[in-house]
Amino acid sequence: MSRRILPIRHILFPVVVGLAVGAVISVGTALVAAALRPADGWPNILGAGPAQSRGVLPQFRVRTGQGDVVVFIHGGPVYTSVTLTPLWVEDAIMDDEQRAAGEEYWPYPENIRPDVLALFGHPTRFEIPLWATRWSEPSKEEQIITTAWGWPWRCLAGTERKFLVWKSDGASQGTRSEFSGYWLHGSGPAGTRLRQLPLRVIPAGLAADALAVGTAAGIVVVLGKATLRRVRAGIHRRHGRCPACGYERQGLTLGALCPECGARAPAATTGDEVLHDSATHERAPSSRG
Ligand SMILES: [Zn+2]
Repeated sequence: MSRRILPIRHILFPVVVGLAVGAVISVGTALVAAALRPADGWPNILGAGPAQSRGVLPQFRVRTGQGDVVVFIHGGPVYTSVTLTPLWVEDAIMDDEQRAAGEEYWPYPENIRPDVLALFGHPTRFEIPLWATRWSEPSKEEQIITTAWGWPWRCLAGTERKFLVWKSDGASQGTRSEFSGYWLHGSGPAGTRLRQLPLRVIPAGLAADALAVGTAAGIVVVLGKATLRRVRAGIHRRHGRCPACGYERQGLTLGALCPECGARAPAATTGDEVLHDSATHERAPSSRG
């Protein structure tokens, strides 16, 4: 075996820090986007808007062991909402006309009209995202709404389960909601949404975000440090100092190593040039690398 030991500290440490920074940034983005979502549901700058703001997929229905489920997926750059409607529950409150209309408005993917597909940019994949909460078996939910947040991948989610509630007159019904995975804050007036922060972690999404954002942050830091070093070295060189550490080289013989850090002398420049250079840059400061 080689006696050389990998500098684990120099590899593992930046990787761990990078992943942690990436995770914090992606979770922070998700929470800020969710927090900024207006109570009236209208879109904000992060694309956190209602159904009509940005379509992801047209409504479609999928076949399940218990019956058909209508799937509605919409959202924006940092936000995706999945609404699942088990039709065997909805069936109880639909009349024949609504059932017939449902065939048209909630078609199987293969039956979606071409003009509707064109409207949504010709999507080809009609699947329920893995992070979307499924119906219970047997389903008692009228709807299961999962919202997920994060960029580029969704990393936090929360779920609202809606149940039909029959009023005491037995003829009319309302809904009762159960929330999970959310931190809820207050409730708006009728017709508006609760202010809600998603807290349930989507592990695969968070891992992918941490990797992508952490890598990007690492590249920015490395490039930034290199640029800073070059700029600083350029300034030191112009002022006749050691480019590496800034030690005053005045009085040293040309080509002598820096007594402070041992760096080689800067590429031979005469004192005149240095003077001229610094005079020029006094008038027009530049950060030439
Ligand atoms: Zn030096």
